[in-house]
Amino acid sequence: MSIHPDRTPSRGYPAPGPQSPGAGQLIGNAYCTGWQQVQAARYDVIVIGTGPAGVAFIERTLARNPHAAILVLERGGYWLPAHVQTLPAAFRAIAGDATTYPWTRSAAMATDARLVQAGMVPMLGGRSTCWHGWCTAPRPDQLRGWPQSLVERTRHPGFWDDPRAFLHVTGADRIDDSVYGSLQRQLDIRLRDNFQRCVPSALDAGAAPLAVQHAERPGAGFHKFSTVGTLLGLQQRQKALAAQGQACELHIVDRCTVDLLLHDGDGRVTTLETGCGPIRVGDAKIVLAMGAIPSATLLMNAFGALLPHAGKRYTGHLMSRVTARVKRSAFREAGALELGAHVLHGRADNGLQYQVQVSAFASRDPVRDAATIAAEAPDAVPSLAQLQESEHWVLFVCTALGEIGEENCENWMRLDGGADPATNITLQLQAGPMETALWDVMDDAICQTMVALAGRDAAAPAAVEYWIDEGSSGCWQGVRPPRRQVRSHLVVDEASPLWIGEDPSSSVVGLDYRPHGVRNVYVTGAALFPTAGAWNPTLAVCGLAQDLADRIG
Ligand SMILES: Cc1cc2nc3c(=O)[nH]c(=O)nc-3n(C[C@H](O)[C@H](O)[C@H](O)COP(=O)(O)OP(=O)(O)OC[C@H]3O[C@@H](n4cnc5c(N)ncnc54)[C@H](O)[C@@H]3O)c2cc1C
Repeated sequence: MSIHPDRTPSRGYPAPGPQSPGAGQLIGNAYCTGWQQVQAARYDVIVIGTGPAGVAFIERTLARNPHAAILVLERGGYWLPAHVQTLPAAFRAIAGDATTYPWTRSAAMATDARLVQAGMVPMLGGRSTCWHGWCTAPRPDQLRGWPQSLVERTRHPGFWDDPRAFLHVTGADRIDDSVYGSLQRQLDIRLRDNFQRCVPSALDAGAAPLAVQHAERPGAGFHKFSTVGTLLGLQQRQKALAAQGQACELHIVDRCTVDLLLHDGDGRVTTLETGCGPIRVGDAKIVLAMGAIPSATLLMNAFGALLPHAGKRYTGHLMSRVTARVKRSAFREAGALELGAHVLHGRADNGLQYQVQVSAFASRDPVRDAATIAAEAPDAVPSLAQLQESEHWVLFVCTALGEIGEENCENWMRLDGGADPATNITLQLQAGPMETALWDVMDDAICQTMVALAGRDAAAPAAVEYWIDEGSSGCWQGVRPPRRQVRSHLVVDEASPLWIGEDPSSSVVGLDYRPHGVRNVYVTGAALFPTAGAWNPTLAVCGLAQDLADRIG
């Protein structure tokens, strides 16, 4: 919670005044609202969470109606002013430590499947402060099992343009800086010309869409998006407009965990129990934008009996990663430092989808270029050892995402009776036979994609070398790395516990984004996805949040 001991500093008269302003306090003074003021106010909407879902919703709502009275509750405090890649390299030392796991993994998930659900970032901005920014949009045929009317909404002209504008998405072939240039174009052409021949399971390929444009400085080059600047900018704009009677102030309370929704027994939430104290809901609509698992936890604690299907679906993405290299001589001259970002979509015969994300690196002097590479890398970065041995090569880090299907009833999220309502959920996820078959196809597709990129003529590609781990080091070899090295234990982009659908007997949330039978709570985020496909979730998360804003605005 933000405390505001002294909004008008004494400026040294008649006494020295406070001498130790902390970052949290300064942010609180500038952007956050005191608890007493919040308790006395009436709101149209209370949004829980400040990641992409929450801020996309808020931005759209205020664009439609600047007089909307919105309260934003965020469990975390201020920690990074912008995406970690836009900050000096030293900041990366704290990025990993921010992750939390507000759940328990089942024994089967932890020991048999040995899968780890990627964690949350419980801070202002949520995971947008450190995400990678890949933003593919699902085509209608990639929305298996989604309600037809929602699929039709995504077909409307401009449906995907709006979340792209919110996230500042641009194609990697259109990034206006010296780092993305000739190599990007060469690889785009090779992939386009060769993918059908080299990757039998692929459907599409091209330059990667990345959330890297700069909102305030068009043409400034590569600048990964986070919601922090957008949210604080909205707060400042609303405050200025409110001073002229043209808007309502946007109230933000940080370090305020919402623990429980108390309701009247008839589907209407009356009070939010938070770490700062209770808040009366009044006529406000409550928007859950907390990430898929925390949103499900909150709803299941409040309305478990009313929502018998909640948590019965658990989808997301399995991951594989390969590092490879191809001689520079296989490419037209690339600059001293060039990067590239490319994407390929495919499908296994069983219908499950995969996506290969290729990051390319060509550096003549990796030590000198280390900071630029870290700042402009689209995804994971090769190690310095891999880069230093490769001045005469182009390096590739290929990360593949594979769809976890919706039909495996061994995959679930269940309340476990723990005392803390913010963490009393147990997860279980295992790769079933469908996912295992997809994983084989996906791992083949990574190496086939490398062949497609390795030569102008797919029939005569240049040699590809792969990095083979050997304990704490490794070496380059002309053979594919073993499966145990390629396959990650991490499950990412978790989705679906509150999947949307028309029929209450086979879904959790209705087409108006309210859980069936619940009157004043609305769900955003990947919890809604009936199936996760293999496309990146955040563009769809923001598109649905904007759609919700249009519907309840
Ligand atoms: C390393 C990494 C790389 C990624 N790369 C990509 C990518 O390339 N492309 C892509 O599409 N996606 C990517 N993602 C996923 C992406 O970050 C998420 O899809 C996106 O952030 C989801 O937005 P959200 O607002 O739903 O959730 P979040 O960003 O998780 O935000 C949820 C917010 O709710 C707050 N909150 C949670 N519980 C409570 C509570 N009880 N009370 C109050 N506040 C609460 C949290 O603190 C947080 O601020 C990546 C994620 C990570 C970690």
